[in-house]
Amino acid sequence: MDKHTQNTQERARQTRIASDLALITRQIDAATERYQAKAGITGHKVTLVAVSKYQDVESMCALYLAGQRAFGENRVQDLRQKASELERLLAQPPYQVTLKPQAPQTPIEWHFIGTLQRNKINHLLALSPTLIHSIDSIELALSLDERCKAQGRIQPALLQVNAANEPSKHGFSLESTCDAFAHIRARTSHLHLQGLMTIGAHTQDISAVVESFARTKALYDTLRAAYSDVETLSMGMSGDFMHAIMQGANMVRIGSALFKG
Ligand SMILES: *Cc1c(COP(=O)(O)O)cnc(C)c1O
Repeated sequence: MDKHTQNTQERARQTRIASDLALITRQIDAATERYQAKAGITGHKVTLVAVSKYQDVESMCALYLAGQRAFGENRVQDLRQKASELERLLAQPPYQVTLKPQAPQTPIEWHFIGTLQRNKINHLLALSPTLIHSIDSIELALSLDERCKAQGRIQPALLQVNAANEPSKHGFSLESTCDAFAHIRARTSHLHLQGLMTIGAHTQDISAVVESFARTKALYDTLRAAYSDVETLSMGMSGDFMHAIMQGANMVRIGSALFKG
């Protein structure tokens, strides 16, 4: 492929991804307004985490250039590879953007959303993730805290809730979430649990999906009443994020709908 064709294709990709992002942003804003009207509140903010697990780094670059800053990956080795490839690609002409922490005008956030094996903890921490969404056992929380303590760093994280009680999913049951949260908070100093994450029920039955979000929100409210620094409720994906926001989510994780192009 010659250079001109390649540039034309890159621009077409850029345009497609920017318009997908604009559409998702409008849908998030519309759902946020409906939620605020329903709950009688103002100032509710929803953060979009772009889940890039099935995407190549060129698509991620296009999304970055369209203004997206938070990216989510579910495997430690993918996060490591994509973070370094994206940094390299953006550093080259024509972009010449530097993503280093000393360049505060171009911050990028890496969110870890997948199952974390304990033997991958050091690899993950080396990548300085902004938020780990998927704490699914007390043992994992305590191991992470130990490593963070040894490294003298505070790591923000969320407890994963298996809100629809699906055997195929990781996470705490609705019944055990608040006790597990309190247990971990009492025994850790460097893992900072700041909220909950859930994956909506895997079913065509929308009322069951909404129910799983509503139950997770109720737990989140209980925790917030007990811990004033609890602030993140991560729920909603491509197929159900409007429902999740209507139930009070303030962080959504969207993959396929963002990269249709
Ligand atoms: C893949 C994934 C997503 C995004 O899924 P889409 O349906 O592509 O939006 C969100 N959260 C988790 C935990 C995932 O693994």
